[in-house]
Amino acid sequence: MTQNGPEAAIGEGRLVLTRAAEDWQNRLMAIFIIGKSKCSLCGDAIASDQKRIATTHFIESPSHPLWRFSDSNMHYDCFQNWAMREDFVSLYNSTIGRIRWGNGTRHEMAIDGEVRSVPAA
Ligand SMILES: [Zn+2]
Repeated sequence: MTQNGPEAAIGEGRLVLTRAAEDWQNRLMAIFIIGKSKCSLCGDAIASDQKRIATTHFIESPSHPLWRFSDSNMHYDCFQNWAMREDFVSLYNSTIGRIRWGNGTRHEMAIDGEVRSVPAA
C-alpha cells in the first residue's frame, strides 16, 4: 500500500469527520455577548453577573413551538418560572442528551436547566 492508495482516501475521510465534529462542538452553545444578548423568555439583556441557561441548536423544525429557544440564552430565573421548562428539558434529554461523545460521556440537562457531563450508559 502507498500513501496514494486506499489508505490515503480513508485518512482523508477521517479528517473530514474530525472537522465536522469540531464544527459541531463549536456550535454547542448559543452565542453569548455580555450585556447584549437577550433572554429569549423575557427579552431583557443578560448581564455578566446573571446566571443563565444556554443550549445549542437541538430542535430542527422551525415549526416546533420550542424551536426558537433551542439556540438561545435565557436568564436562569426566567427559566425556572417558564411553563414549558419540563417539556424543554425532556426534549433536550431525548435528543442531544442521548449523544455519546468521544470521551464516553453524554450531556444531561437537569430540571433547572443546568447541563452536566455524565457517563454514557
Ligand atoms: Zn429573562
